[in-house]
Amino acid sequence: MMSSYFKNTWEGLYTVFVGMKITLKHLFTPSVTIQYPNVKVPLPERVRNRLYVNMDDCIGCDQCARACPVSCIEIETVKSLPTENLGTTSNGKKKALWVTKFDIDIAKCCYCQLCVFPCPTECIYMTDVYEFSEFRRSDLVYKFATLTEAEAEEKKLNFENLQKEKELQKAAQAAAQNNAQQPN
Ligand code: SF4
Ligand code: SF4
Repeated sequence: MMSSYFKNTWEGLYTVFVGMKITLKHLFTPSVTIQYPNVKVPLPERVRNRLYVNMDDCIGCDQCARACPVSCIEIETVKSLPTENLGTTSNGKKKALWVTKFDIDIAKCCYCQLCVFPCPTECIYMTDVYEFSEFRRSDLVYKFATLTEAEAEEKKLNFENLQKEKELQKAAQAAAQNNAQQPN
């Protein structure tokens, strides 16, 4: 009876010592965890995270959207009028289209970067932003077009009117030709 008392006491003390030894050892071991989000791990140089589009340089060519394997880029454009000057991109490409819609559904994006390579003006690229969780899926659709809805409608209307004018002119020319060919 007495021997089991001492045995149990020894075992109790021994386990405390073992536990303390492990605790003391880890007290002097450098930490492998970080205090995220206050501390962040440096990212690799060519990291692929959230996409960004610099619309000042976008010519609306649609090449990025066509390269996307999951169709998460939606672009709509309207031809500019001959009287409108949209300027050039930073690498000298002439802009001729109004980009009325440029949406990227980042919830569908698989970060393959295939949209980045074909861009002739290098205006779509991966950033190092990786914290962009949202409560609603709809908030993960990034809208890059810089025109307001009213402006986009106006551009569409202007183009439609120009087309109608051209058609009327063509019809008038055809009628004039017909009249000229009619025997008197
Ligand atoms: S990274 Fe890939 S999946 Fe994402 S938008 Fe670009 S092409 Fe599409
Ligand atoms: S490939 Fe580049 S220039 Fe063409 S629509 Fe996409 S982002 Fe714009």
